[in-house]
Amino acid sequence: MAGCLFCGIVGGKIPAHLVYQDDRVVAFRDINPQAPVHILIIPRKHVAGVLDIAPEDHGLIGAIFKVAATLAREQGIADTGFRVVVNSGSDAGQSVSHLHYHLIGGRRMKWPPG
Ligand code: 5GP
Ligand code: ZN
Repeated sequence: MAGCLFCGIVGGKIPAHLVYQDDRVVAFRDINPQAPVHILIIPRKHVAGVLDIAPEDHGLIGAIFKVAATLAREQGIADTGFRVVVNSGSDAGQSVSHLHYHLIGGRRMKWPPG
């Protein structure tokens, strides 16, 4: 989608440190990491957010979680623990309107989140 930052990363127009890609999913390091491991996992297809996930996207969402588990193991945070977080809307702090899953780990986290 024109003007979308993460579509720009998917298309290679905006540089990013990619850690995984396949035909449906791309993962790259967050530019402003909040933990030793902070990776964003996104669909190649432009989906604006959680509220825009269509029935035909359900397999895609499963694929994203499979990538999250694979990366958690590869990054060495599977045993110590990690979070997979999606922010939706202004109260949650969503700042990019292209569905993205934060994979965060490598430090002790608090609950409830701030
Ligand atoms: P949100 O706040 O929408 O849940 O998450 C957006 C995330 O995208 C933030 O954690 C932010 O640091 C990250 N981000 C914003 N711009 C860029 C960018 O140009 N490159 C990368 N790699 N991450 C970005
Ligand atoms: Zn997009």
